[in-house]
Amino acid sequence: MSHKKFTILIIAALLIVVVACFGHATNREVEKLVHQQFNEQQLLRTRQSAAGIESFLDEKIILVEMLAAEVADESPENMTDHFMLLYQKSGGFSSIGFVNSDGVIASGYPIEATAIGLDLHATQRDAPFDRARLSGKTYTTTPMLLVQGVVGSNIGVPVYSDGEFKGVVFATIEISTLSERYLAGVLPEGRGYIYLITKSGRSLYDGAHKEMAGKKYIGYFCGNNSSYADILREQMQGKEGAGYYFDETTGEQRIVSYTTVFWRDYVWSVATSVPVSEAEALIHSVYRKEILLLAIVIAIILAGSGSIILLFSGWNKELEREVKMKTEDLRMSNTELASANTKLRELDRLKSEFISMVSHELKTPLTSIKISMDVVNSLSNSETDARTRDEMLQIINRNIERQKRLVNDLLDISRIETGNLKLHLEPVDLHATIRESAESMKDLADKEGIPIITDLQGESPEISGDHDRLVQVFINLIGNALKFTGSGEIRIQAQMIGGHPEIRVSDTGIGIPAEELDTIFGKFHQVDSGLTREVGGTGLGLAICKGIVEGHGGRIRAESKVGEGSTFVVVLPGGKAQ
Ligand code: ADP
Repeated sequence: MSHKKFTILIIAALLIVVVACFGHATNREVEKLVHQQFNEQQLLRTRQSAAGIESFLDEKIILVEMLAAEVADESPENMTDHFMLLYQKSGGFSSIGFVNSDGVIASGYPIEATAIGLDLHATQRDAPFDRARLSGKTYTTTPMLLVQGVVGSNIGVPVYSDGEFKGVVFATIEISTLSERYLAGVLPEGRGYIYLITKSGRSLYDGAHKEMAGKKYIGYFCGNNSSYADILREQMQGKEGAGYYFDETTGEQRIVSYTTVFWRDYVWSVATSVPVSEAEALIHSVYRKEILLLAIVIAIILAGSGSIILLFSGWNKELEREVKMKTEDLRMSNTELASANTKLRELDRLKSEFISMVSHELKTPLTSIKISMDVVNSLSNSETDARTRDEMLQIINRNIERQKRLVNDLLDISRIETGNLKLHLEPVDLHATIRESAESMKDLADKEGIPIITDLQGESPEISGDHDRLVQVFINLIGNALKFTGSGEIRIQAQMIGGHPEIRVSDTGIGIPAEELDTIFGKFHQVDSGLTREVGGTGLGLAICKGIVEGHGGRIRAESKVGEGSTFVVVLPGGKAQ
Protein backbone atom coordinates (compact mmCIF):
# COMPACT_ATOMS: atom_id res chain seq x y z
CA MET A 1 0.00 0.00 0.00
CA SER A 2 1.30 3.43 -0.88
CA HIS A 3 2.18 6.01 1.77
CA LYS A 4 -0.70 8.31 0.71
CA LYS A 5 -3.34 5.55 0.92
CA PHE A 6 -2.09 4.52 4.37
CA THR A 7 -2.34 8.15 5.60
CA ILE A 8 -5.89 8.46 4.27
CA LEU A 9 -6.92 5.22 6.01
CA ILE A 10 -5.40 6.44 9.31
CA ILE A 11 -7.28 9.76 8.98
CA ALA A 12 -10.50 7.89 8.19
CA ALA A 13 -10.02 5.61 11.24
CA LEU A 14 -9.32 8.63 13.48
CA LEU A 15 -12.43 10.37 12.15
CA ILE A 16 -14.50 7.25 12.90
CA VAL A 17 -13.09 7.08 16.46
CA VAL A 18 -13.84 10.81 16.98
CA VAL A 19 -17.38 10.37 15.62
CA ALA A 20 -17.90 7.29 17.84
CA CYS A 21 -16.63 9.14 20.98
CA PHE A 22 -18.75 12.11 20.10
CA GLY A 23 -21.72 9.77 19.59
CA HIS A 24 -21.11 8.14 22.98
CA ALA A 25 -20.93 11.51 24.77
CA THR A 26 -24.04 12.65 22.93
CA ASN A 27 -25.82 9.46 24.02
CA ARG A 28 -25.26 10.31 27.69
CA GLU A 29 -26.55 13.84 27.08
CA VAL A 30 -29.49 12.53 25.11
CA GLU A 31 -30.36 10.02 27.84
CA LYS A 32 -30.39 12.78 30.46
CA LEU A 33 -32.34 15.08 28.21
CA VAL A 34 -34.92 12.47 27.22
CA HIS A 35 -35.53 11.56 30.90
CA GLN A 36 -35.92 15.21 31.75
CA GLN A 37 -38.23 15.81 28.81
CA PHE A 38 -40.23 12.73 29.63
CA ASN A 39 -40.72 13.83 33.25
CA GLU A 40 -41.75 17.29 32.14
CA GLN A 41 -44.17 15.82 29.66
CA GLN A 42 -45.67 13.59 32.37
CA LEU A 43 -46.09 16.54 34.68
CA LEU A 44 -47.78 18.50 31.91
CA ARG A 45 -50.15 15.61 31.32
CA THR A 46 -50.91 15.44 35.05
CA ARG A 47 -51.65 19.18 35.11
CA GLN A 48 -53.88 18.67 32.10
CA SER A 49 -55.70 15.91 34.04
CA ALA A 50 -56.10 18.16 37.07
CA ALA A 51 -57.61 20.88 34.89
CA GLY A 52 -59.87 18.24 33.31
CA ILE A 53 -61.12 17.00 36.66
CA GLU A 54 -61.74 20.54 37.94
CA SER A 55 -63.69 21.57 34.87
CA PHE A 56 -65.62 18.28 34.88
CA LEU A 57 -66.80 18.79 38.42
CA ASP A 58 -67.52 22.51 37.93
CA GLU A 59 -69.49 21.70 34.82
CA LYS A 60 -71.59 19.21 36.84
CA ILE A 61 -72.37 21.85 39.48
CA ILE A 62 -73.36 24.39 36.81
CA LEU A 63 -75.62 21.84 35.17
CA VAL A 64 -77.35 21.00 38.44
CA GLU A 65 -77.71 24.71 39.29
CA MET A 66 -79.29 25.31 35.89
CA LEU A 67 -81.57 22.34 36.46
CA ALA A 68 -82.65 23.75 39.84
CA ALA A 69 -83.62 27.06 38.22
CA GLU A 70 -85.44 25.21 35.44
CA VAL A 71 -87.58 23.03 37.69
CA ALA A 72 -88.37 25.69 40.32
CA ASP A 73 -91.98 26.06 39.23
CA GLU A 74 -92.58 22.41 38.38
CA SER A 75 -94.35 19.89 40.56
CA PRO A 76 -92.04 17.15 41.87
CA GLU A 77 -93.66 14.62 39.52
CA ASN A 78 -93.03 16.82 36.49
CA MET A 79 -89.42 17.33 37.54
CA THR A 80 -88.59 13.69 36.75
CA ASP A 81 -88.57 14.32 32.99
CA HIS A 82 -86.00 17.11 33.41
CA PHE A 83 -83.88 14.88 35.64
CA MET A 84 -84.01 12.08 33.11
CA LEU A 85 -83.00 14.41 30.29
CA LEU A 86 -79.95 15.70 32.16
CA TYR A 87 -79.03 12.22 33.41
CA GLN A 88 -79.05 10.80 29.90
CA LYS A 89 -77.49 13.75 28.10
CA SER A 90 -74.73 14.69 30.47
CA GLY A 91 -73.62 11.40 31.95
CA GLY A 92 -71.40 11.27 35.01
CA PHE A 93 -74.38 11.36 37.38
CA SER A 94 -75.43 8.25 39.28
CA SER A 95 -78.71 9.85 40.33
CA ILE A 96 -80.59 13.18 40.24
CA GLY A 97 -83.49 13.95 42.57
CA PHE A 98 -85.54 16.50 44.51
CA VAL A 99 -85.98 16.85 48.31
CA ASN A 100 -89.03 18.93 49.20
CA SER A 101 -89.03 21.61 51.84
CA ASP A 102 -89.98 19.01 54.47
CA GLY A 103 -86.79 17.05 53.83
CA VAL A 104 -88.49 14.14 52.03
CA ILE A 105 -87.20 12.85 48.69
CA ALA A 106 -90.09 13.72 46.44
CA SER A 107 -88.92 12.64 42.99
CA GLY A 108 -85.80 11.37 41.20
CA TYR A 109 -84.20 9.56 38.31
CA PRO A 110 -83.41 6.70 38.02
CA ILE A 111 -86.19 5.80 40.42
CA GLU A 112 -84.35 2.77 41.89
CA ALA A 113 -81.34 4.94 42.80
CA THR A 114 -83.13 7.80 44.54
CA ALA A 115 -85.06 6.25 47.50
CA ILE A 116 -88.23 8.32 46.83
CA GLY A 117 -90.20 8.92 50.02
CA LEU A 118 -87.14 8.80 52.28
CA ASP A 119 -87.41 11.37 55.08
CA LEU A 120 -83.96 12.85 55.62
CA HIS A 121 -84.82 14.25 59.02
CA ALA A 122 -86.09 10.89 60.16
CA THR A 123 -82.97 9.08 58.90
CA GLN A 124 -80.64 11.80 60.18
CA ARG A 125 -79.16 12.37 56.75
CA ASP A 126 -80.39 15.94 56.74
CA ALA A 127 -77.16 17.82 57.43
CA PRO A 128 -76.28 18.79 53.85
CA PHE A 129 -79.97 19.53 53.14
CA ASP A 130 -80.21 21.84 56.08
CA ARG A 131 -76.93 23.53 55.05
CA ALA A 132 -78.37 24.34 51.63
CA ARG A 133 -81.72 25.41 53.09
CA LEU A 134 -80.13 27.68 55.61
CA SER A 135 -77.31 29.11 53.47
CA GLY A 136 -79.29 29.25 50.23
CA LYS A 137 -76.10 28.10 48.44
CA THR A 138 -74.99 25.04 46.55
CA TYR A 139 -73.27 22.42 48.68
CA THR A 140 -71.02 19.49 47.91
CA THR A 141 -70.25 16.54 50.10
CA THR A 142 -66.96 14.80 50.63
CA PRO A 143 -66.58 12.00 48.10
CA MET A 144 -67.78 8.70 49.48
CA LEU A 145 -68.05 5.11 48.37
CA LEU A 146 -71.39 4.64 46.68
CA VAL A 147 -73.47 1.47 46.55
CA GLN A 148 -72.27 0.76 43.01
CA GLY A 149 -68.69 0.43 44.31
CA VAL A 150 -67.62 3.75 42.87
CA VAL A 151 -66.67 6.96 44.63
CA GLY A 152 -69.11 9.79 44.28
CA SER A 153 -69.92 13.22 45.65
CA ASN A 154 -73.29 14.76 46.33
CA ILE A 155 -74.25 18.21 45.04
CA GLY A 156 -77.24 20.01 46.49
CA VAL A 157 -78.79 23.19 45.01
CA PRO A 158 -81.58 25.00 46.88
CA VAL A 159 -84.70 25.73 44.79
CA TYR A 160 -86.73 28.91 45.27
CA SER A 161 -90.02 29.84 43.64
CA ASP A 162 -91.07 33.42 44.03
CA GLY A 163 -88.52 33.82 46.82
CA GLU A 164 -90.00 30.88 48.71
CA PHE A 165 -87.77 27.86 49.53
CA LYS A 166 -89.18 24.85 47.72
CA GLY A 167 -86.59 22.24 48.44
CA VAL A 168 -83.20 21.03 47.16
CA VAL A 169 -82.25 19.49 43.80
CA PHE A 170 -79.51 16.96 44.47
CA ALA A 171 -77.27 14.93 42.21
CA THR A 172 -74.63 12.34 42.81
CA ILE A 173 -71.52 12.65 40.59
CA GLU A 174 -69.58 9.51 39.91
CA ILE A 175 -66.00 10.63 40.10
CA SER A 176 -64.96 7.38 38.44
CA THR A 177 -66.63 8.46 35.18
CA LEU A 178 -63.70 10.88 34.92
CA SER A 179 -61.71 8.14 33.30
CA GLU A 180 -64.07 7.77 30.36
CA ARG A 181 -64.85 11.45 29.90
CA TYR A 182 -61.59 13.29 30.55
CA LEU A 183 -58.68 11.19 31.58
CA ALA A 184 -58.50 8.26 29.19
CA GLY A 185 -57.36 10.55 26.35
CA VAL A 186 -54.71 12.28 28.45
CA LEU A 187 -52.37 9.30 28.47
CA PRO A 188 -50.98 7.98 25.25
CA GLU A 189 -51.24 4.30 24.37
CA GLY A 190 -49.14 2.39 26.84
CA ARG A 191 -49.07 1.06 30.34
CA GLY A 192 -49.58 4.36 32.15
CA TYR A 193 -52.65 5.20 34.24
CA ILE A 194 -54.09 8.07 36.27
CA TYR A 195 -55.25 8.09 39.85
CA LEU A 196 -56.87 10.70 42.05
CA ILE A 197 -56.54 10.74 45.85
CA THR A 198 -57.91 12.83 48.66
CA LYS A 199 -55.82 14.69 51.25
CA SER A 200 -56.13 11.66 53.51
CA GLY A 201 -54.72 9.38 50.81
CA ARG A 202 -57.98 7.70 49.82
CA SER A 203 -58.49 6.73 46.22
CA LEU A 204 -61.19 8.70 44.40
CA TYR A 205 -60.30 7.23 41.10
CA ASP A 206 -57.64 4.76 39.90
CA GLY A 207 -57.49 3.95 36.23
CA ALA A 208 -55.63 0.69 36.85
CA HIS A 209 -56.94 -0.42 40.23
CA LYS A 210 -60.70 0.03 40.38
CA GLU A 211 -60.82 -2.03 43.59
CA MET A 212 -58.94 0.79 45.35
CA ALA A 213 -62.03 3.06 45.22
CA GLY A 214 -62.49 4.73 48.60
CA LYS A 215 -59.49 2.89 50.10
CA LYS A 216 -56.25 4.30 51.45
CA TYR A 217 -53.15 3.50 49.42
CA ILE A 218 -50.63 3.46 52.24
CA GLY A 219 -51.10 0.27 54.13
CA TYR A 220 -53.34 -1.29 51.55
CA PHE A 221 -51.49 -0.85 48.26
CA CYS A 222 -47.99 -0.29 49.59
CA GLY A 223 -45.99 -0.54 52.79
CA ASN A 224 -45.46 2.41 55.04
CA ASN A 225 -41.76 2.68 54.29
CA SER A 226 -41.83 2.15 50.57
CA SER A 227 -40.75 4.82 48.14
CA TYR A 228 -44.28 4.80 46.74
CA ALA A 229 -45.55 5.72 50.24
CA ASP A 230 -43.12 8.68 50.16
CA ILE A 231 -44.63 9.82 46.88
CA LEU A 232 -48.15 9.43 48.24
CA ARG A 233 -47.26 11.45 51.33
CA GLU A 234 -45.97 14.27 49.11
CA GLN A 235 -49.26 14.11 47.20
CA MET A 236 -51.27 14.23 50.43
CA GLN A 237 -49.42 17.41 51.36
CA GLY A 238 -50.74 18.96 48.14
CA LYS A 239 -47.35 19.19 46.43
CA GLU A 240 -46.43 18.98 42.79
CA GLY A 241 -43.51 16.85 41.53
CA ALA A 242 -42.34 13.45 40.37
CA GLY A 243 -40.88 10.33 41.95
CA TYR A 244 -39.74 6.81 41.09
CA TYR A 245 -40.75 3.57 42.78
CA PHE A 246 -40.39 -0.12 42.15
CA ASP A 247 -43.72 -1.83 41.49
CA GLU A 248 -43.37 -5.35 42.91
CA THR A 249 -46.54 -6.68 41.30
CA THR A 250 -45.33 -5.92 37.79
CA GLY A 251 -41.63 -6.06 38.64
CA GLU A 252 -40.79 -2.73 37.04
CA GLN A 253 -39.72 0.75 37.95
CA ARG A 254 -42.42 3.40 37.56
CA ILE A 255 -42.35 7.15 37.45
CA VAL A 256 -45.21 9.05 39.14
CA SER A 257 -45.90 12.72 38.30
CA TYR A 258 -48.39 14.44 40.56
CA THR A 259 -50.13 17.76 41.05
CA THR A 260 -53.02 19.19 43.06
CA VAL A 261 -56.67 19.47 42.07
CA PHE A 262 -58.71 22.25 43.68
CA TRP A 263 -62.48 21.78 43.70
CA ARG A 264 -64.70 23.88 45.95
CA ASP A 265 -63.29 23.39 49.43
CA TYR A 266 -61.43 20.22 48.55
CA VAL A 267 -57.76 19.74 47.78
CA TRP A 268 -57.01 16.49 46.00
CA SER A 269 -53.99 15.13 44.21
CA VAL A 270 -53.98 13.67 40.74
CA ALA A 271 -51.07 11.55 39.46
CA THR A 272 -49.98 9.78 36.31
CA SER A 273 -48.03 6.58 36.78
CA VAL A 274 -45.93 5.34 33.84
CA PRO A 275 -43.29 2.56 33.68
CA VAL A 276 -39.78 3.94 33.27
CA SER A 277 -39.35 1.53 30.36
CA GLU A 278 -41.59 3.84 28.32
CA ALA A 279 -39.04 6.63 28.71
CA GLU A 280 -36.33 4.11 27.88
CA ALA A 281 -38.23 3.03 24.79
CA LEU A 282 -38.09 6.66 23.76
CA ILE A 283 -34.36 6.76 24.48
CA HIS A 284 -33.86 3.56 22.51
CA SER A 285 -35.72 5.00 19.57
CA VAL A 286 -33.43 8.05 19.79
CA TYR A 287 -30.43 5.66 20.04
CA ARG A 288 -31.61 3.76 17.01
CA LYS A 289 -31.81 6.99 15.04
CA GLU A 290 -28.42 8.01 16.37
CA ILE A 291 -26.86 4.69 15.45
CA LEU A 292 -28.36 5.05 11.99
CA LEU A 293 -26.87 8.54 11.73
CA LEU A 294 -23.53 7.24 13.01
CA ALA A 295 -23.60 4.43 10.46
CA ILE A 296 -24.37 6.95 7.72
CA VAL A 297 -21.53 9.25 8.89
CA ILE A 298 -19.09 6.30 9.03
CA ALA A 299 -20.28 5.13 5.61
CA ILE A 300 -19.75 8.65 4.26
CA ILE A 301 -16.26 8.79 5.82
CA LEU A 302 -15.38 5.37 4.39
CA ALA A 303 -16.87 6.18 1.01
CA GLY A 304 -15.09 9.57 1.03
CA SER A 305 -11.70 8.12 1.95
CA GLY A 306 -12.28 5.22 -0.46
CA SER A 307 -12.98 7.66 -3.28
CA ILE A 308 -9.91 9.73 -2.38
CA ILE A 309 -7.78 6.56 -2.41
CA LEU A 310 -9.29 5.54 -5.75
CA LEU A 311 -8.72 9.04 -7.10
CA PHE A 312 -5.10 8.98 -5.92
CA SER A 313 -4.42 5.54 -7.30
CA GLY A 314 -6.11 6.60 -10.54
CA TRP A 315 -3.82 9.62 -10.71
CA ASN A 316 -0.84 7.48 -9.78
CA LYS A 317 -1.64 4.97 -12.48
CA GLU A 318 -2.12 7.74 -15.01
CA LEU A 319 1.13 9.34 -13.93
CA GLU A 320 2.94 6.01 -14.11
CA ARG A 321 1.47 5.43 -17.56
CA GLU A 322 2.51 8.89 -18.67
CA VAL A 323 6.02 8.51 -17.23
CA LYS A 324 6.28 5.12 -18.94
CA MET A 325 5.14 6.61 -22.24
CA LYS A 326 7.50 9.56 -21.94
CA THR A 327 10.39 7.23 -20.99
CA GLU A 328 9.56 5.06 -23.98
CA ASP A 329 9.41 8.19 -26.19
CA LEU A 330 12.75 9.32 -24.80
CA ARG A 331 14.25 5.88 -25.32
CA MET A 332 12.97 5.84 -28.89
CA SER A 333 14.17 9.32 -29.67
CA ASN A 334 17.53 8.39 -28.12
CA THR A 335 17.71 5.36 -30.40
CA GLU A 336 16.63 7.53 -33.32
CA LEU A 337 19.17 10.14 -32.37
CA ALA A 338 21.87 7.48 -32.05
CA SER A 339 21.03 6.02 -35.46
CA ALA A 340 20.75 9.52 -36.95
CA ASN A 341 24.12 10.23 -35.42
CA THR A 342 25.59 7.06 -36.91
CA LYS A 343 24.06 7.98 -40.26
CA LEU A 344 25.42 11.51 -39.98
CA ARG A 345 28.87 10.16 -39.15
CA GLU A 346 28.63 7.74 -42.03
CA LEU A 347 27.53 10.60 -44.27
CA ASP A 348 30.38 12.70 -42.99
CA ARG A 349 32.82 9.89 -43.69
CA LEU A 350 31.33 9.43 -47.15
CA LYS A 351 31.52 13.14 -47.78
CA SER A 352 35.20 13.25 -46.79
CA GLU A 353 35.85 10.23 -48.97
CA PHE A 354 33.88 11.89 -51.75
CA ILE A 355 35.84 15.11 -51.49
CA SER A 356 39.14 13.28 -51.68
CA MET A 357 37.76 11.07 -54.42
CA VAL A 358 36.36 14.00 -56.41
CA SER A 359 39.59 15.95 -55.96
CA HIS A 360 41.47 12.89 -57.16
CA GLU A 361 39.05 12.34 -60.05
CA LEU A 362 39.30 15.99 -61.06
CA LYS A 363 43.02 16.16 -60.59
CA THR A 364 43.93 12.95 -62.45
CA PRO A 365 42.56 14.07 -65.85
CA LEU A 366 44.01 17.54 -65.34
CA THR A 367 47.43 16.05 -64.63
CA SER A 368 47.16 13.88 -67.75
CA ILE A 369 46.05 16.88 -69.80
CA LYS A 370 48.91 18.96 -68.46
CA ILE A 371 51.54 16.28 -69.16
CA SER A 372 50.10 15.67 -72.65
CA MET A 373 50.13 19.41 -73.38
CA ASP A 374 53.78 19.67 -72.30
CA VAL A 375 54.64 16.74 -74.57
CA VAL A 376 52.77 18.37 -77.50
CA ASN A 377 54.61 21.65 -76.93
CA SER A 378 58.01 19.96 -77.01
CA LEU A 379 57.33 18.11 -80.27
CA SER A 380 58.95 19.05 -83.63
CA ASN A 381 57.32 18.81 -87.01
CA SER A 382 58.83 15.40 -87.70
CA GLU A 383 56.56 12.50 -88.71
CA THR A 384 57.25 10.59 -85.53
CA ASP A 385 56.41 13.63 -83.49
CA ALA A 386 53.22 14.09 -85.52
CA ARG A 387 52.05 10.58 -84.46
CA THR A 388 52.93 11.31 -80.84
CA ARG A 389 50.99 14.62 -81.06
CA ASP A 390 47.86 12.73 -82.26
CA GLU A 391 48.17 10.27 -79.40
CA MET A 392 48.61 13.13 -76.92
CA LEU A 393 45.58 14.99 -78.28
CA GLN A 394 43.47 11.78 -77.92
CA ILE A 395 44.57 11.48 -74.30
CA ILE A 396 43.63 15.13 -73.70
CA ASN A 397 40.22 14.52 -75.30
CA ARG A 398 39.52 11.36 -73.22
CA ASN A 399 40.38 13.16 -70.00
CA ILE A 400 38.18 16.14 -70.86
CA GLU A 401 35.32 13.63 -71.52
CA ARG A 402 36.02 11.94 -68.21
CA GLN A 403 35.82 15.23 -66.35
CA LYS A 404 32.67 16.21 -68.21
CA ARG A 405 31.05 12.92 -67.09
CA LEU A 406 32.00 13.56 -63.49
CA VAL A 407 30.66 17.09 -63.50
CA ASN A 408 27.41 15.85 -65.16
CA ASP A 409 27.04 13.15 -62.52
CA LEU A 410 27.44 15.71 -59.77
CA LEU A 411 24.85 17.96 -61.38
CA ASP A 412 22.42 15.04 -61.79
CA ILE A 413 22.68 13.87 -58.20
CA SER A 414 22.15 17.41 -57.01
CA ARG A 415 19.00 17.72 -59.22
CA ILE A 416 17.67 14.38 -57.90
CA GLU A 417 18.24 15.38 -54.31
CA THR A 418 16.56 18.75 -54.68
CA GLY A 419 13.68 17.27 -56.72
CA ASN A 420 14.68 19.23 -59.78
CA LEU A 421 15.37 16.35 -62.13
CA LYS A 422 13.19 17.10 -65.15
CA LEU A 423 12.04 14.11 -67.20
CA HIS A 424 10.83 14.66 -70.73
CA LEU A 425 8.25 11.95 -70.97
CA GLU A 426 7.30 10.60 -74.40
CA PRO A 427 6.37 7.20 -75.85
CA VAL A 428 9.53 5.15 -75.77
CA ASP A 429 10.24 1.85 -77.53
CA LEU A 430 11.88 -0.07 -74.70
CA HIS A 431 13.64 -2.79 -76.74
CA ALA A 432 15.07 -0.20 -79.16
CA THR A 433 16.30 1.87 -76.21
CA ILE A 434 18.01 -1.18 -74.65
CA ARG A 435 19.59 -2.16 -77.95
CA GLU A 436 20.82 1.41 -78.48
CA SER A 437 22.39 1.43 -75.00
CA ALA A 438 24.13 -1.93 -75.59
CA GLU A 439 25.35 -0.74 -78.97
CA SER A 440 26.97 2.37 -77.52
CA MET A 441 28.87 0.19 -75.02
CA LYS A 442 29.91 -2.37 -77.66
CA ASP A 443 33.35 -0.86 -78.41
CA LEU A 444 34.27 -0.81 -74.75
CA ALA A 445 32.96 -4.34 -74.25
CA ASP A 446 34.86 -5.60 -77.25
CA LYS A 447 37.99 -4.04 -75.88
CA GLU A 448 37.44 -5.90 -72.60
CA GLY A 449 36.63 -9.05 -74.56
CA ILE A 450 33.24 -9.41 -72.86
CA PRO A 451 30.23 -10.02 -75.05
CA ILE A 452 26.96 -8.18 -74.39
CA ILE A 453 24.03 -10.49 -75.08
CA THR A 454 20.55 -9.00 -75.39
CA ASP A 455 17.62 -11.30 -74.73
CA LEU A 456 14.49 -9.22 -75.36
CA GLN A 457 11.37 -11.37 -75.18
CA GLY A 458 8.11 -10.77 -76.99
CA GLU A 459 7.10 -7.57 -78.65
CA SER A 460 8.73 -4.42 -77.41
CA PRO A 461 6.48 -2.61 -74.93
CA GLU A 462 5.90 1.06 -75.50
CA ILE A 463 6.34 2.98 -72.31
CA SER A 464 6.04 6.60 -71.31
CA GLY A 465 9.60 7.69 -70.48
CA ASP A 466 12.54 10.01 -70.98
CA HIS A 467 14.53 8.24 -73.69
CA ASP A 468 17.91 9.84 -72.94
CA ARG A 469 17.62 9.27 -69.20
CA LEU A 470 16.65 5.60 -69.70
CA VAL A 471 19.68 5.21 -71.99
CA GLN A 472 21.76 6.79 -69.20
CA VAL A 473 20.45 4.18 -66.74
CA PHE A 474 21.20 1.19 -68.99
CA ILE A 475 24.65 2.52 -69.99
CA ASN A 476 25.45 3.01 -66.34
CA LEU A 477 24.40 -0.53 -65.46
CA ILE A 478 26.29 -2.01 -68.44
CA GLY A 479 29.33 0.15 -67.63
CA ASN A 480 29.35 -1.13 -64.02
CA ALA A 481 28.97 -4.71 -65.26
CA LEU A 482 32.01 -4.22 -67.52
CA LYS A 483 33.99 -2.61 -64.72
CA PHE A 484 33.41 -5.43 -62.25
CA THR A 485 33.57 -8.39 -64.63
CA GLY A 486 36.98 -9.83 -65.48
CA SER A 487 35.77 -12.45 -67.90
CA GLY A 488 32.47 -13.98 -68.88
CA GLU A 489 29.51 -12.17 -70.34
CA ILE A 490 26.94 -9.47 -69.84
CA ARG A 491 23.31 -10.35 -70.46
CA ILE A 492 20.43 -7.93 -70.86
CA GLN A 493 16.99 -9.48 -70.58
CA ALA A 494 13.63 -7.81 -70.96
CA GLN A 495 10.20 -9.35 -70.43
CA MET A 496 6.72 -8.46 -69.20
CA ILE A 497 6.04 -9.68 -65.66
CA GLY A 498 2.66 -9.05 -64.05
CA GLY A 499 1.89 -6.38 -66.67
CA HIS A 500 5.13 -4.49 -66.06
CA PRO A 501 8.30 -4.47 -68.13
CA GLU A 502 11.20 -5.95 -66.24
CA ILE A 503 14.81 -5.39 -67.40
CA ARG A 504 17.62 -7.47 -65.92
CA VAL A 505 21.28 -6.54 -66.52
CA SER A 506 23.39 -9.50 -65.36
CA ASP A 507 27.13 -10.06 -65.29
CA THR A 508 29.49 -12.83 -64.23
CA GLY A 509 31.71 -10.49 -62.25
CA ILE A 510 32.89 -10.22 -58.67
CA GLY A 511 29.41 -9.92 -57.17
CA ILE A 512 28.21 -7.80 -54.25
CA PRO A 513 27.97 -8.93 -50.59
CA ALA A 514 24.35 -9.42 -49.40
CA GLU A 515 24.59 -6.68 -46.76
CA GLU A 516 25.59 -4.14 -49.43
CA LEU A 517 22.78 -4.87 -51.88
CA ASP A 518 20.68 -1.95 -50.65
CA THR A 519 23.39 0.47 -49.60
CA ILE A 520 25.09 0.60 -52.99
CA PHE A 521 22.13 2.72 -54.20
CA GLY A 522 23.07 5.45 -51.70
CA LYS A 523 25.18 8.32 -53.07
CA PHE A 524 28.98 7.98 -52.78
CA HIS A 525 28.55 4.40 -51.67
CA GLN A 526 31.12 1.96 -52.96
CA VAL A 527 31.80 -1.60 -51.94
CA ASP A 528 35.11 -1.61 -50.15
CA SER A 529 37.14 -3.90 -52.40
CA GLY A 530 40.47 -3.85 -54.17
CA LEU A 531 38.83 -3.91 -57.56
CA THR A 532 36.61 -0.91 -56.74
CA ARG A 533 39.69 1.05 -55.81
CA GLU A 534 41.46 -0.11 -58.92
CA VAL A 535 38.66 0.78 -61.36
CA GLY A 536 37.86 4.05 -59.63
CA GLY A 537 34.45 5.69 -59.85
CA THR A 538 32.48 8.19 -57.84
CA GLY A 539 29.79 6.09 -56.15
CA LEU A 540 27.16 8.26 -57.82
CA GLY A 541 26.13 6.09 -60.78
CA LEU A 542 23.64 3.80 -59.00
CA ALA A 543 22.17 6.68 -56.94
CA ILE A 544 21.48 8.50 -60.24
CA CYS A 545 19.98 5.30 -61.76
CA LYS A 546 17.71 4.94 -58.76
CA GLY A 547 16.63 8.60 -58.97
CA ILE A 548 15.82 8.29 -62.71
CA VAL A 549 13.94 4.95 -62.39
CA GLU A 550 11.92 6.15 -59.40
CA GLY A 551 11.28 9.43 -61.28
CA HIS A 552 9.55 7.20 -63.86
CA GLY A 553 7.50 5.57 -61.10
CA GLY A 554 9.58 2.38 -61.28
CA ARG A 555 11.81 0.36 -58.93
CA ILE A 556 15.45 -0.81 -59.07
CA ARG A 557 17.13 -3.54 -57.02
CA ALA A 558 20.24 -5.69 -57.05
CA GLU A 559 20.60 -9.49 -56.73
CA SER A 560 24.00 -11.06 -56.38
CA LYS A 561 26.24 -13.84 -55.15
CA VAL A 562 29.80 -12.86 -54.37
CA GLY A 563 32.17 -14.38 -56.93
CA GLU A 564 29.36 -15.44 -59.26
CA GLY A 565 28.04 -12.17 -60.59
CA SER A 566 25.38 -9.55 -60.11
CA THR A 567 21.98 -8.74 -61.61
CA PHE A 568 20.41 -5.30 -61.55
CA VAL A 569 16.63 -5.45 -61.97
CA VAL A 570 14.68 -2.48 -63.25
CA VAL A 571 10.87 -2.63 -63.15
CA LEU A 572 9.09 0.15 -65.03
CA PRO A 573 5.40 1.00 -64.72
CA GLY A 574 2.78 -0.02 -67.29
CA GLY A 575 3.83 -0.50 -70.86
CA LYS A 576 1.79 -1.98 -73.69
CA ALA A 577 3.11 -4.17 -76.52
CA GLN A 578 3.56 -2.26 -79.78
P1 ADP B 1 30.90 3.78 -59.13
O1 ADP B 1 31.14 5.01 -59.86
O2 ADP B 1 31.78 3.58 -57.95
O3 ADP B 1 30.73 2.60 -59.98
P2 ADP B 1 28.16 3.23 -58.66
O4 ADP B 1 27.13 3.93 -57.86
O5 ADP B 1 27.84 2.97 -60.04
O6 ADP B 1 29.44 4.01 -58.46
O7 ADP B 1 28.41 1.85 -57.93
C1 ADP B 1 28.58 1.80 -56.58
C2 ADP B 1 29.36 0.59 -56.19
O8 ADP B 1 28.56 -0.58 -56.37
C3 ADP B 1 30.56 0.33 -56.97
O9 ADP B 1 31.68 1.07 -56.51
C4 ADP B 1 30.78 -1.17 -56.75
O10 ADP B 1 31.46 -1.40 -55.55
C5 ADP B 1 29.37 -1.70 -56.69
N1 ADP B 1 28.92 -2.22 -57.96
C6 ADP B 1 28.13 -1.55 -58.85
N2 ADP B 1 27.85 -2.37 -59.92
C7 ADP B 1 28.50 -3.53 -59.69
C8 ADP B 1 28.61 -4.77 -60.41
N3 ADP B 1 28.02 -4.97 -61.62
N4 ADP B 1 29.36 -5.79 -59.89
C9 ADP B 1 29.96 -5.61 -58.66
N5 ADP B 1 29.89 -4.44 -57.94
C10 ADP B 1 29.15 -3.44 -58.45
